[in-house]
Amino acid sequence: MQRDIDCADFRQFIDPYLDGEFDETERTAFDRHLTVCGDCRRHFEQQAWMQGALRPALKRPSRMPPAARDRLCTRLRAAERPARIRRAARRVAAPLSTLAAMGAVLLMVTPLTGFKPTVMAEAVDQHVRPLPVEMPSPIDQEVERWFEGKVPFDMTAPRFDDERVVLLGGRLSQVQRPGEESRQAAYLVYGVGRHKLTVLVFDGTGLEIDAPMTKVDGKSVYLHDDRGVRVALFQRGPLAYAFTSDLPQQRMLELIGKTH
Ligand SMILES: [Zn+2]
Repeated sequence: MQRDIDCADFRQFIDPYLDGEFDETERTAFDRHLTVCGDCRRHFEQQAWMQGALRPALKRPSRMPPAARDRLCTRLRAAERPARIRRAARRVAAPLSTLAAMGAVLLMVTPLTGFKPTVMAEAVDQHVRPLPVEMPSPIDQEVERWFEGKVPFDMTAPRFDDERVVLLGGRLSQVQRPGEESRQAAYLVYGVGRHKLTVLVFDGTGLEIDAPMTKVDGKSVYLHDDRGVRVALFQRGPLAYAFTSDLPQQRMLELIGKTH
């Protein structure tokens, strides 16, 4: 008998699904839900991605079912294409309506400061795509050292006073300024329980953002919501940190309050 599952089922049983503990019938029901439900697909990709990112870091053997592994491999291969092709693909894929809505409603950056009004959109883009880390490591200093000479600033990873936040690793990324080549940025990935938290770190000199703002521990934190995830951006010294996650906003701000 075929049984359809709903979003709650899907999310409740996503771990056993990824771990290959389901029989054929159950897996078919899950696969069917994945094809029809965009929200769960995004959720699944994040979970699959986290397992994929965690595995090299923790050297755990793979127990994913072949179908799920194939899907993940396809995504990883796509993510490993040369950056130029990836960027071109993203330009094509970026929905104009999203950019227009962002510009109009949430985020305005004055042209003089040199940042396109897409810094927060880029943080979201990079967060929702299942990019593998290039430097898998749970150790801040190790990841910071890996970025030396790769980014044009002293990359300092945020330190969290919260043991549920686990660093998974980092990869080289970029942010764009109009009329210039994109600039190198550091992209850090953390696990917070079952959620993915990504932090985009870049030189924020001159960055001005006209977006909803709140104060956390004296820091100005700019907020942005897009595609089911939240961005909270703040600066420390010359560096800008864009935290992006599907965590509730309150939890995001709490985490930012616990960084030093
Ligand atoms: Zn669903």
